[in-house]
Amino acid sequence: MATTINKQRLLNHLFAAAKKTVGVDEEARPVLQQFIYGLCHENATREQADEAYRFLCERFFDWNEIRVSSLRELEEAFAGMSDAEMRAQRLITFLQEVFEIHFSFDLDKLQKEGLKQAAKKLSRYQAANDYIVSWVVQRSLGGHAIPVDAPTLRCTARLGLIENEQDAAEARASLEHLIPKAKGILFTEGISAIAGDYCWEEQPQCSACPLCADCTYAQENGIEGTVASRGHRTKPR
Ligand code: SF4
Repeated sequence: MATTINKQRLLNHLFAAAKKTVGVDEEARPVLQQFIYGLCHENATREQADEAYRFLCERFFDWNEIRVSSLRELEEAFAGMSDAEMRAQRLITFLQEVFEIHFSFDLDKLQKEGLKQAAKKLSRYQAANDYIVSWVVQRSLGGHAIPVDAPTLRCTARLGLIENEQDAAEARASLEHLIPKAKGILFTEGISAIAGDYCWEEQPQCSACPLCADCTYAQENGIEGTVASRGHRTKPR
């Protein structure tokens, strides 16, 4: 029989865990910078994204220098991350496209356009995908969007927040319905941290995971947590 979970209670525990571990005191970034940060964060932890983004900002004079740099120089920024070469290529392609269209590296005009129009324009960049557009909408355009990358998809499916067979776009639609806009960033950071610290693709560390008591995968596999979820009480039988 399918396991039934209380999604609201699960989300409350996720938000509580996220507040303790990751917080949301992130640096405000303009649209172009947020696009690039999203490219760093996709399929990576926040720590990895911060490190890669810092490398780009500190090692290069400006975005134009990055645009004309070699693939190998940029790959260094993404060392240790998945698809380092592809990330470097996407970054160069993006900056080249922005430069050819605007002769500058400023996309903040999009903040004055309607949300749908701005998202549509962003999605036209070759380096864009559903995750990055959602990231920029959530972080710089003031809209409600939940970026879904592979770790988010895996973790939310195991938790039972989405259906197993949903793809990233379907999962995003479901999660945007489930998560209030005001909690969007906390959710994104919280799930990313759980996926990076515990919910690995192979051998997830369920017994140490703070969401174990509420997780469908853990319940279906008879795994008991060693960390009590805050506020969770087992009902007396
Ligand atoms: S309990 Fe296990 S499967 Fe569930 S979210 Fe945590 S690590 Fe992932």
